[in-house]
Amino acid sequence: MIGILGFVAVFAGGRWLGWAARWVWLLAWGWLLVLLLAHAPYMPPELGAFVGGEFRGWFVLGVLAALALAYRTGLRRLQGRVAPVVAEARPGAFSAVELDRYARHILLREIGGPGQKRLKAAKVLVVGAGGLGSPALLYLAASGVGVIGVIDGDAVEGSNLQRQIIHTDARIGMPKVFSADVAMKALNPFIEVRPYHRQLEEGFAAELVAEYDLVLDGTDNFDTRYLVNRVCAAAGKPLISAAITQWEGQISLYDPTHGGPCFECVFPVRPAPGMVPTCAEAGVAAPLPGVIGAMMAMEAVKHLTGAGQGLRGRLMIHDALYAETRVIGVKRRAGCAACGGG
Ligand SMILES: [Zn+2]
Repeated sequence: MIGILGFVAVFAGGRWLGWAARWVWLLAWGWLLVLLLAHAPYMPPELGAFVGGEFRGWFVLGVLAALALAYRTGLRRLQGRVAPVVAEARPGAFSAVELDRYARHILLREIGGPGQKRLKAAKVLVVGAGGLGSPALLYLAASGVGVIGVIDGDAVEGSNLQRQIIHTDARIGMPKVFSADVAMKALNPFIEVRPYHRQLEEGFAAELVAEYDLVLDGTDNFDTRYLVNRVCAAAGKPLISAAITQWEGQISLYDPTHGGPCFECVFPVRPAPGMVPTCAEAGVAAPLPGVIGAMMAMEAVKHLTGAGQGLRGRLMIHDALYAETRVIGVKRRAGCAACGGG
């Protein structure tokens, strides 16, 4: 009985926690091994009685499961051979399907074929799969950014769905990064998504950021915001950071390595705890993170392809309630603790 309950727990638990199928299967094979070992001749018979069943029964189950898996894998290979769409094209080269997909980008003089290749070769890390992360991630995926990392420790809640449009009602309870992974791959199977289901922390932030060319920060807490900025400044990685509250949003590109200020140059004093309310405390208009998050993706595409003029040294402030947008100049600050100032 315990043996069967173990399998039920592995498959139901894996589904509930949103694990990838291969990890669930690995755990299931591990459990089968435990059951077989429990019935091994040199083991005390009480152990075998405790987990239930008998050695031969579990062995036959394992053989049957292996045969079924082999059959399914073979069938998928055959289907893959017949299917004309090749999702995993050679790196750097576009398949005909990809050329068709990105045709509207390639038509733009400022992006063109070379720009689209740069997008495909790019690795972008998005911190937070919430309100700002939702449109930013979807548009990065649709734009054809080759590798998209997303880090977030939360799970999807019903109250998120008023604005966090990358998630769905059916995925309430699933970790946000896995829900975002599903949505991005459904939109564009030609990209690689790397979900990290955890909060960004000091211990591994530098190592993670080092793997990426550009970082987008859409978190709603100041600890993470200042941490991301410090790590990016130290690693010389450009950072597109945005924030929203109620009806207003702001966005800039912080790139002290190339002359602009860092986030801490512009906002040197961290607000006292409780002074700046989060969306959960103060409320937020549903489309606002859509507006600002889409701007984050827009600035990312421009930065990666070299199109137009980005927001380095400029802070864009959008007041949705009165439909007004202002851009103000921002400078490096001497003695900045994060980037050293200019
Ligand atoms: Zn600075």
